[in-house]
Amino acid sequence: MKSGGKIFVVHPSRNLLEVVIEHLLERDHLETALVLFPNRRPVEFFKYYLCKKIDRPVLLPELKSFEDWLVSYAIGVMKEPVQLIDQMEQAWFVYKAVEEVYAEEKRKVPSWGEFYPWAIRLVDVFREFEMELVEVGNLVHPPSVELHERVIDLLMRLKRIYEAFNKKLDDHSCTTVGKLMRSIADSSENLPDIPVYLVGFYALTRSERAIFRRFFERGASIYWHADIETLPEFYKNWLKDWHEIWQIEPEVIMPEKIAEPEIHLFEAHDLHSELKEVGERLSSSEKVSSPDHTAVVLPSSEPLIPLIHHLPEADLNITMGYPLRLTGIANFIQKLFRLVLGANPERGYMTSTLIDLFNSPYIRVSKETIRALKEYGGGFISEQDVLKFTKEDKDYVRSVFEKIIHPLIEAKNLRTLGDAINTALGFISPGRWSPFEKEAIAVILENVVYPMKEYAFSEEEMEMGELHELFLEVLRTTSIPFEGDPLTGIQVMGILETRVLSFERVILIDVNEGVLPGVEDINPLLPRQVRPLLGLPDHLKEELIIRYHFERLISSSKETHLLWQYCTTPGQSGLDDKKVRSRYVEKIIWQKEKEQGKLFEETSEDEKFRRSQITLEPGELTKKDYLKKDTDLIDSFKVSLWAIHPTMLELYLKCPLRFFYSQVLKIEPPSYKDEVEPAELGTAVHEALEEYIRTLTGIKTDQVNFSGVTLKKQNLSVDDFFNVFIRKLKGKDFYRRISPERKFLLEETARFRFRKYFEEKHPEETKVVALEKRLDPVKIDVGGHGRYELKGKVDRIDRRGENGDVRYIIMDYKTGYTGNVKTKCLNLTLSDIKSLALDDNGLRELKKHFSTIQLPFYIYLWGRFLLKKYHSSFTSWEDITAAFVKLSENGGLAEFYPSRRGNGNSGYNQWFEEVFPEVVKFIIRHLFESPYWYPAEDKEECKYCDYKVPCRFSV
Ligand code: SF4
Repeated sequence: MKSGGKIFVVHPSRNLLEVVIEHLLERDHLETALVLFPNRRPVEFFKYYLCKKIDRPVLLPELKSFEDWLVSYAIGVMKEPVQLIDQMEQAWFVYKAVEEVYAEEKRKVPSWGEFYPWAIRLVDVFREFEMELVEVGNLVHPPSVELHERVIDLLMRLKRIYEAFNKKLDDHSCTTVGKLMRSIADSSENLPDIPVYLVGFYALTRSERAIFRRFFERGASIYWHADIETLPEFYKNWLKDWHEIWQIEPEVIMPEKIAEPEIHLFEAHDLHSELKEVGERLSSSEKVSSPDHTAVVLPSSEPLIPLIHHLPEADLNITMGYPLRLTGIANFIQKLFRLVLGANPERGYMTSTLIDLFNSPYIRVSKETIRALKEYGGGFISEQDVLKFTKEDKDYVRSVFEKIIHPLIEAKNLRTLGDAINTALGFISPGRWSPFEKEAIAVILENVVYPMKEYAFSEEEMEMGELHELFLEVLRTTSIPFEGDPLTGIQVMGILETRVLSFERVILIDVNEGVLPGVEDINPLLPRQVRPLLGLPDHLKEELIIRYHFERLISSSKETHLLWQYCTTPGQSGLDDKKVRSRYVEKIIWQKEKEQGKLFEETSEDEKFRRSQITLEPGELTKKDYLKKDTDLIDSFKVSLWAIHPTMLELYLKCPLRFFYSQVLKIEPPSYKDEVEPAELGTAVHEALEEYIRTLTGIKTDQVNFSGVTLKKQNLSVDDFFNVFIRKLKGKDFYRRISPERKFLLEETARFRFRKYFEEKHPEETKVVALEKRLDPVKIDVGGHGRYELKGKVDRIDRRGENGDVRYIIMDYKTGYTGNVKTKCLNLTLSDIKSLALDDNGLRELKKHFSTIQLPFYIYLWGRFLLKKYHSSFTSWEDITAAFVKLSENGGLAEFYPSRRGNGNSGYNQWFEEVFPEVVKFIIRHLFESPYWYPAEDKEECKYCDYKVPCRFSV
């Protein structure tokens, strides 16, 4: 059987678009043809080549991507007007369909917020059914692989859900791209009666194949870009199918001379060295003269922004989307959500999340207010208390609450969420946004906020956590589009944007396994084993498609540079993730090995294959090349520092470098999805103990009862306490994120430890003096650096002991590991302190004497307070001790000194009066005056350090 169409196999050494233009001109089809491409990008290049070919004004053919054409054509031939709806709206109809089907069976219907992620997956499943022209059926016998209960529920009712979904679409005169595709593939309607050119398509779905066949029967010209000698898999199958029907023989278009591309390989040790190499290669080469001269291709958009910083000053044309979720503005909205999700109706906002929001570059809360919040020390703070701390910026802070925080708290559905985000974005200062941020704001408003307010389900009530999840999902799927128009300079694009195009020089970065090809995105509703049971084709296509585009891009170039990374980085799981070169590079290397008859590693490195070099002199690793302190940075840190807290001193003593990361640079440590956040867990424990003991003793906040309120062990109830603890835990951000298994383990471990603490370690009887007590500040003068207030807040103060050994015991609850407390520091004299050098030796010497500085610090503040209040009755510092309550070890005490040490020795009193303040002054002077941010001396510190990944001193 003969057909009217033709297939042209254009060798990659020929420019495919130029060949198509020649054919259009030869056949005089230029002004009448419909030219369809797999994507939109070739349209601009087509016009560029046409301009080069003819220098007179002409009418252009209709140039479109296949999907754009299909949607407009299919809607145009519909008898009734229909509206094309997006994925979110489809998800809502899917939800309503599931609701209907479940209601018939009297099954519990999940809430919209809970079901939304599944609805999105069902939308994808239905789209695939349409594209592959498969009749939707139920899964009758689930495969032996383990499937989520909800997946089985949905797949066993798939047909009914699909029918109900379609009915809803029809009732609302709506449609989807998948349905339009199927309708044209199935229809007997005539396709347009004009010359049709299908250019650069490779793998086709069944619906595309059906439409292309009809085009072909009507005389369409189809262009493949491949070498006929080594036809890629999908072209071979395509040819075989059509040969059986039409006995077609493709027409091969060869270049005059086949030029093999010159391939340069570069192995980089990390992203930075990879991008630096790209920048150097571009700077040292000739100027980019035309848009098809140089393309820098990124398999994923994540390194786009760092890449731009490495490219030379030249015209750039970026054609790819940048993930919205990676922008600062998306991060700001995330912080806002975290604040609202962690808020407690009785206690207010979590102080840490409020500080985090106020520290955002989009908010202009003064340093003084932020400092006051940091010094506040409590886990939660009410809005009224926040306003009490503010001075000059009271009105501004009030408006931050009114314009940003309250609207989000009040959001109950997508419409009010959209309004809240809109108001927040309108409030933050537009004058300071970079063009990129402005673009991000525009995308959030146009693609996220405005649609959010207009959906049919916009007024459906949702919980804050559900609104957050939905917002995250929208962020995940939204990109900032760089249109790449007009066509000039270096082309920066994704691998799929290169389809159909040819460049003289291609620079492809991140050619690593897991990136090129990427990791297969699996829809949990359609695992591989389920697909054939539902009549869907195998899903191994993705890798073959990317392989074709990769190989075509290289063979259509004159020169290709492939760069990859070989570093080892920590993976999401916490295990090391070794980057390896892509299988595509391995294939190229293997070919080279065959040509040269020796292993690649044995070939000497030349210009075409290089590795990034890290030159290390012998002894380099052990060289004390510490990070220098920057005077300007120290000065501005000094300005922001008013109070000295014991935890700061402790941190500095342990590792000045960690102090620099966390206190000066304020770098946030990473947090992982299914991980217990030690800081938040600690806050929950503190809050629960405070509330519980306060209820039993009646002691009020900041109240001091010097004789103490009796608390007996027999009155403690683990169960009552545990109820308080669980309530506190539920308010924590991390608790919502962790898996049920982690929750269970956490709760059981906590219950066991608290039982041990209450039943075994708590004294039979004690007198509680104060709870969560903010100790009165003590001022100290640090030489030329000014006066600072020593401040601290203690968890609890008791009076314990008998027979002349009654002492105040200041307690600090510890939920993490706590070692023993050594008191070697009591041997330090004034002259010892004076002889300490302001360098690493001086700090090391001091550290040797202190296992903790927190406990003597609390003793010092409490002692000074007693001296002020009870000058005559407070005679000895021995009347006070301090201890860590080791809650992770069942509540045992690690005391600073367990029994009276001085026995009336005046040297002992003198130590607290004279030596200890000098110790504090030395640490502060060391912080300001020593030349370097020294790393931890004790490498045990590095084990649990949040900064061990970026820190080059970590071991
Ligand atoms: S990894 Fe070690 S040296 Fe580096 S900041 Fe952390 S504790 Fe200090």
